[in-house]
Amino acid sequence: MIGANDQKGAEAALPTQADVIIIGGGVVGVSAALFFAERGASVVLCEKGRIAGEQSSRNWGWIRKMGRDARELPLMMESARLWARIAPELGEEIGYGARGTTYLAETDDELAPHAAWLEVARQFGLDTVLLSTDGTDNLLGRGDRRFKGALHTPSDATAEPSLAVPAMARRAAALGAAIVENCAVRVVERAGGRVSGVVTERGEIACSAVILAGGVWSRTFLENLGLGLPQLAVKSSVLRTTPAPDIRPGGIGAPNASVRRRLDGGYTVARSGAAEFQLVPAAFRHFAAFLPILRQRWRIMKIKAGRDFFGPLGTWRWKADETSPFERVRVLDPEPDKALLNRVMAAARALHPQLAEAKPVQSWGGMIDVMPDEIPVIDTPPGWSGLLIATGLSGHGFGIGPGVGMLAMQSVLGETPFVDLAPFALSRFHRKAAA
Ligand SMILES: Cc1cc2nc3c(=O)[nH]c(=O)nc-3n(C[C@H](O)[C@H](O)[C@H](O)COP(=O)(O)OP(=O)(O)OC[C@H]3O[C@@H](n4cnc5c(N)ncnc54)[C@H](O)[C@@H]3O)c2cc1C
Repeated sequence: MIGANDQKGAEAALPTQADVIIIGGGVVGVSAALFFAERGASVVLCEKGRIAGEQSSRNWGWIRKMGRDARELPLMMESARLWARIAPELGEEIGYGARGTTYLAETDDELAPHAAWLEVARQFGLDTVLLSTDGTDNLLGRGDRRFKGALHTPSDATAEPSLAVPAMARRAAALGAAIVENCAVRVVERAGGRVSGVVTERGEIACSAVILAGGVWSRTFLENLGLGLPQLAVKSSVLRTTPAPDIRPGGIGAPNASVRRRLDGGYTVARSGAAEFQLVPAAFRHFAAFLPILRQRWRIMKIKAGRDFFGPLGTWRWKADETSPFERVRVLDPEPDKALLNRVMAAARALHPQLAEAKPVQSWGGMIDVMPDEIPVIDTPPGWSGLLIATGLSGHGFGIGPGVGMLAMQSVLGETPFVDLAPFALSRFHRKAAA
């Protein structure tokens, strides 16, 4: 356990009571724990594996407003302010910096959606600009007029995912939060329609509020409580390279390869939207809801059946005194798609001459939790007063995570949220199903 007064590490006893229990040690759960700890609340975060073991350390590290859905932009803008406040307070290097996001376009067709997004940027007063061929060459310090143009937001940031969230957890612990690793929460208990506690693999903790920030596991957790959530998982693959010359310090996107300069001088390289859709039983239940995403991305998405059908993210039922799927898989570590990554690295080299000598040194996979409309759920299900679901960040939650953590805290404390929560309500899926 990482705790303020904890001298004995993992041997420390599990607290038996807390104001709030947080399930999941990703960016959402950890930032919520940090904000509660800043307020002096007694908070326990239970993580089945290790802090940021799943999506929150495996992502590209982009903290961007650019290109977002307008429904989550106000939340992202506040999240960007939170990142800028938190980063210097951590007292550790997390590679955070406002280095800009750039989307390159080689054709008019590629440029068109970027030009259209400028209107969203204007509505929200963002510093986004559409660059010409010459402007793009100037930004990249090259003169080959390869690109038709680019969309660029100088105030967007990046950080090192594998450093940022663990540093936030240490800060939360220093402020009094109990951060417990290797401790799966099996069930949430309630009495008279109100949350009364959780049962973990190491014992029970009484509490009146629970935040479920379980990432890709949230649907499985809720189904066991008899609650539905149309959330599915897609696998995404990433690689990192040996150090290479500077292209630009921020995130640089392009249809076939996106790159970000890392703190170690190498690049994180991947392809946006290229993912593997896991065919689990829930995929059939929620298939209709996800059809629009599949239609939009069918060229770059694979649908995978087979071994994973009955895998850990399948449909399971267990009781409080039984081993849960969360104890069976401490850290979800899917195999990266090596063939895809070979193509992506070749595309990155073709786009950026600076990568000519860069060698891939590591690759990894990550399971992304996706909602049908690709924006989060931040809501309490009917009949479960005290249970706040904060999940479904749909592949862009590293940037928005602290904002979601803050909203989760405000909801639990009954404070006025800093943005309208209506777009993130669970009922939006029921309305669609009924229509
Ligand atoms: C390859 C990849 C690239 C990405 N790139 C970006 C990017 O550049 N920018 C961006 O903004 N976002 C990006 N994302 C998305 C972003 O990483 C996620 O949206 C975000 O990290 C989700 O955070 P989370 O806290 O909701 O979930 P997670 O980080 O998945 O954390 C959930 C945690 O809950 C734990 N857990 C689950 N159930 C239980 C239980 N019952 N008991 C205890 N613990 C439990 C899990 O072990 C896990 O650690 C990317 C994601 C991937 C995979």
